[in-house]
Amino acid sequence: MKLGCIADDYTGATDLACLLHRSGASVRLHFETPNSAINSAYDIEIIALKCRTAPVEKAIRLCCAAGEWLLEKGASTLYWKYCSTFDSTATGNIGPVAEALMELSNKTQILYCPSFPENDRRVFMGHLFVGDQLLNESSLKDHPLTPMTDANLCRILEAQVNSSVGLWNLLEQRKNESFPKNVHVIADAIALEDLEFLVEKTPSNVLLTGGSALAMPITKKIGLVKTGHNLYPKPAPASLILSGSCSDMTIRQVERYVGCGPMFQLDPLNLENNGLKDCLDWLHSQSIKVTPLIYATSTPEEVRHIQNKLGVSEAGNLIEHAMATIAKSAQLKGIRRFVVAGGETSGAVTQALGIRSVEIGPEICPGIPWVFAEPQDNPIALALKSGNFGAETFFTDALKKLPI
Ligand code: ADP
Repeated sequence: MKLGCIADDYTGATDLACLLHRSGASVRLHFETPNSAINSAYDIEIIALKCRTAPVEKAIRLCCAAGEWLLEKGASTLYWKYCSTFDSTATGNIGPVAEALMELSNKTQILYCPSFPENDRRVFMGHLFVGDQLLNESSLKDHPLTPMTDANLCRILEAQVNSSVGLWNLLEQRKNESFPKNVHVIADAIALEDLEFLVEKTPSNVLLTGGSALAMPITKKIGLVKTGHNLYPKPAPASLILSGSCSDMTIRQVERYVGCGPMFQLDPLNLENNGLKDCLDWLHSQSIKVTPLIYATSTPEEVRHIQNKLGVSEAGNLIEHAMATIAKSAQLKGIRRFVVAGGETSGAVTQALGIRSVEIGPEICPGIPWVFAEPQDNPIALALKSGNFGAETFFTDALKKLPI
C-alpha cells in the first residue's frame, strides 16, 4: 500500500474513494478500522470513521488507531480527509485529529485545503465559498449537527488548536513564495491546477489534509499507476432509497423523486411515540419492481421544531436508528441495492447492514460512486450521498447507473 487515508464520515470516504478510483489504482474502503489480521494488497486503503461529531478525545483515539493500522500495513503516505465544507464544531475535530496524525506520521506541519472545485467548493484568501456564497451564507449555516457560521477557515481552526495558524494564499502561491512556517497552514485553491500545485510544492515534513479533491494529485506524486479492473459485481435489482439528510440539495432531490416511486415520510415525533411498525408494513407491501424512498428530510424550520422538542442529538439518533432498522429489515427481505442520503445516516445504515469493507464501482456523479460489498456471493451495492452532493435527479441517476 502506498497511500493510507482516514475519513471522518462514511460518505466523505466514498467521495474520496470515488476520486482516487479515477487514477486506476486499486482502492479498498473499510468502514471502521479493520482488525490487525487483515492484510493489504491494495495501492490505496481508506478507513471511514464516524467521528465528525464525536467528542474530540474519542475522534483522536479512533483516527490514531486507523492511522496505526495503515502505517503497520505499509502506507508510505497518510491523508486526513474531512468535508469540503469543513464541517466541524468549535471544539474540533479537524484540527486536533490533524495534530495527532501529524505526530503519528512523524511530520511537523499540516496543510489544510478542503477545496473541491468540481463540486463548487473553493478556498480563496482563507475563506470557503460554496458556489458564489460564503460558507456561512450558504445552506450549511443550517446544518442540523455542524452549522457553519464562519467562512474564515483560519479563525475556525484557531478555535480548535493551540499552535499558530497561517494562510498560504493564492497570490503568494503564484509568486512562488516559500511555504509558511506555521504548524497549521490553510491553503487557498480555486481550481484543480491549484490543488496539483499544493501537492507538488508542499515540503515532505507536512501532513496533507483536506477534502477528496486534494488527494487526487497525490496519486501522481507517489507514482500510482492503473492496476484496477472495471468488472463490477451485479447485485439483485431490488432497491431502496433512505434519506436522513436535511441539506438543501437533498430536500430538492426528495421533491424531485415525487412520481418516480412510492414515498414514505418518517415523522420523528410519531417515531418517538409509536415506533416503526407503520413504516415497515408500508415498505414490505411494496412491489420489488419499484424503488421506495423513505425520508426524514425536512426544512430547517421543521428540523428546529423537532430539535426543540426532542433535543439535537436525540432527534439525530432517533432517526439514524430508525434508518438503520429499516435497512436491516429490507436486507432480510432481499433488497440488495441501497441509496442513502446523509453522512451520519449512511454511517448508521452501513453499520446496520454489517458491511465492513467495499470495493469501488461506477461513478454516479463527482464524489459519489456505487460501492460493492461481498462481491463473490449475493453482493450488496451502496450509493452513499453526502448532503449537498448530486444533481436534483440524483436518486434516479443512481438507480440507472447499475444494470438491472
Ligand atoms: P448530511 O450529509 O446532509 O449532513 P447527515 O445524515 O450527516 O446528513 O445529518 C443529518 C442529521 O439530521 C442526522 O443526524 C439525521 O438523523 C438528522 N435528521 C434527519 N431528519 C431530521 C428531522 N426531520 N429533524 C431533526 N433531525 C433530523
